[in-house]
Amino acid sequence: MQFKDIEGQHVLINSLTEIIDSGRVSHAQMFLGTTASGSLALAIAYAQYLNCENRQHYGEGSLLRADSCGECPHCRKYRQLMHSDLHFIFPNTTTAKMTKEPSSDRFQEEFRDFLNAKNQVGVEDDWYAHLGIEKKQGEIRERDADSITRILSLKSYEGGYKVMIIWLAERMNLSVSNKLLKTLEEPTDNTLILLVVENKDRMLPTILSRVQQIVVPERNVGLNPEKRAAYAQMFVSWMRLLFKLNMQTLSDWVEKIAAIGREPQKCFLQYTQETLRACFLKTAAGIVIEDELQFDDEKFNAAFPAMVTPRNVEAMNQAVNDTLYAIERNANPKIAFMQLSFTFSKLIKNR
Ligand SMILES: [Zn+2]
Repeated sequence: MQFKDIEGQHVLINSLTEIIDSGRVSHAQMFLGTTASGSLALAIAYAQYLNCENRQHYGEGSLLRADSCGECPHCRKYRQLMHSDLHFIFPNTTTAKMTKEPSSDRFQEEFRDFLNAKNQVGVEDDWYAHLGIEKKQGEIRERDADSITRILSLKSYEGGYKVMIIWLAERMNLSVSNKLLKTLEEPTDNTLILLVVENKDRMLPTILSRVQQIVVPERNVGLNPEKRAAYAQMFVSWMRLLFKLNMQTLSDWVEKIAAIGREPQKCFLQYTQETLRACFLKTAAGIVIEDELQFDDEKFNAAFPAMVTPRNVEAMNQAVNDTLYAIERNANPKIAFMQLSFTFSKLIKNR
């Protein structure tokens, strides 16, 4: 799984690749989000990027700053989920075929088939449907805990990072959780444990305190036309304000956006990022992305894209990332958007 195949998460992906590139990878991490958010695919792509021998870095203006190459031996094995240092633990139970002693180990093939069929966006109910056990719920059990200990004690086969992905880790029972806790307390070199969790309230607090938490937001895949039109309008009036930088009207605008709530604010920021990218592609390369640059304002349509240039696009993108991060962390939205407005105003003037 490469990052480019995951829709609607570029903001998070860019911060993940930055962390890996800087070498600050913590040995136990938790991807926290609904299964539909693509949290499992993200964890797999993250592990693949970590192991890739030829990480690709893209120029300014690209949606993604970096990705795995997709072609080196590690990437090829990851693509088929057949890498010897990639291990999966997941909820399981008896099925018509596996009538006793179920375990993740014994369902590896089914799990790979399931993930490949679903583009690696694992949704819990789909997994049970794949096993033909719609009415049952799986569990991560004692036998799985033993596998975790055994696998983690082995040396890496391929010389890179050994990765253990525990999907829906909240399905661990208490004794499995306690065993995992022990493992987390004694990290081994070049070993990465990735917990993919939907409901963190079901996790032991002692485990939560030992993992780095990565919040996976709901995917912003394609805004509906109505929302897009509303955001476009908001964007146009914002940009107009920034040219004149009239404090009174700007603070009115900031009041308005502060009132719409965090999720819409994040959507608007993502819309802003997409729009900047579309403007940049138009100015720098003459590429026009259909549907992206359609403001309900002829003058603005004609003049605005030229404000985003090779000189300011990266800094603008970074400023939006910083704001998204701040909003995600419950920062005061008025301050966050005011700060972003000042940064944008300066960057547009110095285009
Ligand atoms: Zn690679």
